Amino acid sequence: MKLRTILLFGAPGSGKGTQGKILGTIPGYYHCACGDVFRNLNADSRLGRVFLEYSSRGELVPDEATVDLWRNNIQANTMLGRFNPERDTVVLDGIPRNAAQAKMLQGTLDVRALLHLTCPDRNKMVERLQRRALRDNRLDDANLDVIRTRLQVYDQETKPVLDFYGPDVVHDINATQTPVEVLSDILRVIAKV
Ligand code: ADP
Repeated sequence: MKLRTILLFGAPGSGKGTQGKILGTIPGYYHCACGDVFRNLNADSRLGRVFLEYSSRGELVPDEATVDLWRNNIQANTMLGRFNPERDTVVLDGIPRNAAQAKMLQGTLDVRALLHLTCPDRNKMVERLQRRALRDNRLDDANLDVIRTRLQVYDQETKPVLDFYGPDVVHDINATQTPVEVLSDILRVIAKV
C-alpha cells in the first residue's frame, strides 16, 4: 500500500517547517520533516557524523542513507502508533530532495499534491535563515557561504523534482505572504485532494 502524501516543497527558508508543524496538528495529517529526523540522530553515531559532515557544508546527505533512514523512521512511528498509514495523510517536508530520491520513493508515495512555496526574493530567504540560526541554534544557517551553497543545491538538484511530479500535482503558493495567509492558501488546496 502506498502512503497518501502531500509534499511541502521550497527553498531553504521558504517556510516549509513552519507550515508543516501546523498541518501536523490537524487530525488525519502526520508531519514528517527529513531534516528533523537527521537532527535527532545521536551526533556520535555513524550516520549522525555523516549528517554533520554534509549539512555543515550545505550539501545533501547521500541518497541511499537518507531514504533508508526515512523509511526506518516512518516504520518506527507507525509501530509506535503515532502514524497510521490507513487513516493519515503524510505531510512530507524535505524529502524527496532530488530526482533520484523521487524515483526511489515512487513505489512508496502516492503524491496527491506538491505544495511549492515560492519566494522570488532570495535576500528575504537569507534573512529568514539567519534569524533561524540564532533561534534554533542551527550551524548550517549561521554561515553565509553555507546558505549560498544550500540555495544553489536547491536550484540545481531539488528543483528538478517539480518536473518529476508534473504540473497536475504541483501547486504554487506565494511564500512571501504572512504565515496565516500561506496556511490559508495551502488549506484551500489540500481540502480538495
Ligand atoms: P532546509 O530546508 O532549511 O534546508 P532541512 O532541515 O530540511 O533544512 O535540511 C537540513 C540539511 O539536512 C540539508 O541541508 C541536508 O544536508 C540534510 N537533508 C535533509 N533532508 C535531506 C534529504 N532528503 N536528502 C539529503 N539530505 C537531506
